[in-house]
Amino acid sequence: MLAPPTISHTARTFGLGFALTCAAIAGAQQAFAWGRIAHTPIAQVAERQLTPDAAKEVRRLLSLEEASSLGDVASWADRDWRENRPGPDHDVPIPLDAEGYDAARDCQGRCAVGAIELYLGVLADRTKPDQERLDALKYVVHLVGDIHQPLHASQAGGWETVSWKGVTSNLHLLWDVRILQGTYTAPEQVVETITKRLRPMPDCGTPAQWANEGHQIVKTFVYPALGPPPAIRIQTIAIPDDYVAKALPIIEERLTLAAMRLSCVLNKALDPQK
Ligand SMILES: [Zn+2]
Repeated sequence: MLAPPTISHTARTFGLGFALTCAAIAGAQQAFAWGRIAHTPIAQVAERQLTPDAAKEVRRLLSLEEASSLGDVASWADRDWRENRPGPDHDVPIPLDAEGYDAARDCQGRCAVGAIELYLGVLADRTKPDQERLDALKYVVHLVGDIHQPLHASQAGGWETVSWKGVTSNLHLLWDVRILQGTYTAPEQVVETITKRLRPMPDCGTPAQWANEGHQIVKTFVYPALGPPPAIRIQTIAIPDDYVAKALPIIEERLTLAAMRLSCVLNKALDPQK
């Protein structure tokens, strides 16, 4: 059960003013999530892995608002905060020094882990109104992507100012979009990379497991690879190319896992044979 809508975790933790400043600098919908360069390919690849029955139901729901593919709606949920529409958080604030996700501690509001579980239940329930199930589908598509961005599974967030290739942003944005934008020129190239990495999967896993993987990546690479932290970080961190060279395959693997798991949970929710 999710609590009533509250201000997002990001805004709560870092102050709404700071969050809005970030958004203004970074451009809408790039501030708190994978950008379209990640969300659209994840959704497109996942849709190709759906069973015929699941794909048929997805297309029927999408047709209610004249969308034709999951890629069309993959970034819809990022309009929540921009349009002041209540919605779930797109992250889960696991403390950096914690072993892993703890629902009682990390999901008191509407965290991404709880939201994915909730919306998958709505999507699978054919007694619910179509519009409610369509919204649930759009949240699942988006949040399964977001939870695979390691910094979306960490209370740390990555709000330190960084500079890479002459562009100043923050560590969160570097992982959200900057590394992908510095590597790929179009979402189609990301689709190709993900598709090459696809392999059979024993099971879907759970949103909590997916978040724990991201938390471990933050603990073992995202911060440690920057070197020992100073007592107070006030200067811009210059990101070496070596850091990006190691981060890129991690990001590509997270996108691949997101696509594989998205198709897996959608098949389970929408195909009675699964
Ligand atoms: Zn998001």
